[in-house]
Formats: sequence, structure tokens, C-alpha cells
Amino acid sequence: MTKKEILIKNLSNIPGWRTKRKIVVIESDDWGAIRMSSKQNLDQLSKQGVKPCSDDEARYLQNDSLASENDLIGLFEVLTSAKDRQNRNAVFNAVAVVANPDFDKIRENGFQKYEYEPFNETLKRYPEHGNSFALWQEGIANQLFIPQFHGREHLNVTSWMKALQVGDKDTLAAFDLRVYGITPRNPINSISYQAAFDFVDIKELEYQKSVLTEGLILFEKLFGYKATFFVPTNGPFNNQLEETTAKMGIKYMGAAKIQAEPIGNGQFKKHFHYLGQQNKFGQRYLTRNCFFEPSSNLKSDWIDACMNDISIAFRWHKPAVISSHRVNYIGCINPANRDNGLSKLKELLYQIVKKWPDVEFMTSAELGDLTVRNTK
Ligand SMILES: [Zn+2]
Repeated sequence: MTKKEILIKNLSNIPGWRTKRKIVVIESDDWGAIRMSSKQNLDQLSKQGVKPCSDDEARYLQNDSLASENDLIGLFEVLTSAKDRQNRNAVFNAVAVVANPDFDKIRENGFQKYEYEPFNETLKRYPEHGNSFALWQEGIANQLFIPQFHGREHLNVTSWMKALQVGDKDTLAAFDLRVYGITPRNPINSISYQAAFDFVDIKELEYQKSVLTEGLILFEKLFGYKATFFVPTNGPFNNQLEETTAKMGIKYMGAAKIQAEPIGNGQFKKHFHYLGQQNKFGQRYLTRNCFFEPSSNLKSDWIDACMNDISIAFRWHKPAVISSHRVNYIGCINPANRDNGLSKLKELLYQIVKKWPDVEFMTSAELGDLTVRNTK
């Protein structure tokens, strides 16, 4: 890191809620979403010329998929290998979507109407995933893997359906392989298919409100409790939607420290957020200050970099909130990816416990509750 980067990392930790406790929260986005449906389909797409448009997209398309039984078993083993000062295991906040498109129904209706299915139905179509949903439930029961809300699906339904209706070749090629998270060579607009709450026209907010409401109802049905923490997919999110989520029980919002709020027609409004900051609906923002993405650059020392992020957080009496996407821990497309991610995570957790024996592993909701109690 350059001196300037070190300075920025330190300064960005200053505003907001503080504690002398050594709290570590791990937030992992994307659980429940399809991304790539199989290795075979990845190769097929590539043959048809649908290829990643950046290194970052490549790491997702080549590695990320619904978690198989082995992915989850491997992750839970690593999380139980580390104990905090109260003998509590490390815990993943699995920021999850609850549905995927129902490709069959959409094809049957001639791409005229969007239909979705709960993600546990999608799992049934996958070869190594028959018991995955039961493992999610086991992860919840054992406090290792706590789902929170990322959206109904990791998909901008409005833009994707429009592209299907006008017959965009790349979007249709992916559709045939039960994949939606690609970037077409000739996109119909600037909206990423992954960004569920981005939009061109402000009128789309009404539909997005129904997506949030239905998604949060399905969340409770699937997991038996209400989501209290919400991280909008890809970040873009209009703040008018906060009211809908507040009414549905969301108490904590995940946001970047500098949020770019879409207001339509490619325009954005900037907002600054800090840990514990409250909005007019009584929700509090939780921001991340540590990063662990071993699949994004195989040559970087992610353990050292993340340990450094945590040290800076603790220096400023901040909890360490680590961002680490699902893609790092998935092996059903590329087993070497999972092995790399899990072994690095195991080493990171080992080093955390060794360096800070008084560490406390916590869920995002528990951290949110603490910021409420200590600021009143
Ligand atoms: Zn995501």
C-alpha cells in the first residue's frame, strides 16, 4: 500500500460508532443466487462468444455458483476451527437472495411475464446440492451461517425482461443455459443485470417496492425468522425504498461509505454513511472496513492485507467488518477455487484468534443491536 492509501484507510475508520471491544463480523454476499449454472454451461457460453467483460466478472463467471453440499460442509468446518474468547465459533452473515428466475415458466409465456422460484427449488436441479438447503438450516441452528437479505433475486428484472423481449442474443444464449448474470456485448441500457435496484426510470421504484416486500415475506417463510439486515445487490438503491424495508422489519442497512443513490436517467446523488448512522425511518447503517477476496487476485497476500485492515479498525476502536463474497468458497465449477478460499480463510481466522485472544465473533444483527444500545 502507498502512504496515501494507508492514510485513507485510517481516516475512513474515524467517523461513527466506537467500541474498545475487539469485534469481528464477516459479511458474505450472494448466497442463493445462480450466477454460473455449471462448468459445461460456462464452456458453452464461451463458445458462443459470451465472455466476461472484466477480470472481476471473469472470477465470478468462472467460479461462482449455488453452494453444493461439499462447499457448505467445508465452510462450516473452517468456521468451527476458530473460537473466540467466549468459545464461540466464527460466523458467516450469509447475505442472500431468496429466489431465481423460473426459466421454464418465462419461456412458456413467451418472455411476456417474469416468474420466479424460491432458491431451494433451484437447488433441486443441481447435481451436488440435494442436501444443501438442509445444510443451510443446520448452519443457522449451529450459529455458523446466518442468512440476511440481499434482495429477492440478484437480478434487475425490468432490464433483463426487456432484453429477452427484444431478443438480445447474448441474454438469450445465457437464458438457455439457465444463467442471467452476464454482461451482453450489446446491452440495451447501462443497468447491470446483477443490480436489482438500479433503474432508468424512477417509475420502476413501484415495482421494486413489490420485489422487496415479496422477497422479505419469502425470506421469513424459508428461514423461519425475519431478516433485519439488508445489503442491496451491487449497491445501487434509491433511498425511497428504505421506508418499504423498514415496514418489513429491516433495522440495519448495509451501505458503502460513499453511496451513489440512483435517481433515474443515469443520474446519482452522493451520500456519506458511517457505522451506526440513523436514517429517518430509524434504520442504522452498517459499513464495512475490511476486505478478504482471495479469488480476486491469486498473487496477493489476502491474509496479510486483511489482518492489516483489522488492525487499523481496532486502532480506531471500530469493529472489523469483513467483506468476503460467496465466490471465494465455491468449488462445484472449479474445485481449486474452493480449496484456495477455504484454506486462506482458515489461516486468517487462526491468525485473528492468535493476535487478538479477546476477539468476539458476531453477527451483523448483533453488531447493529450494540450500536443502538450504546448510542441511546
Ligand atoms: Zn451480490
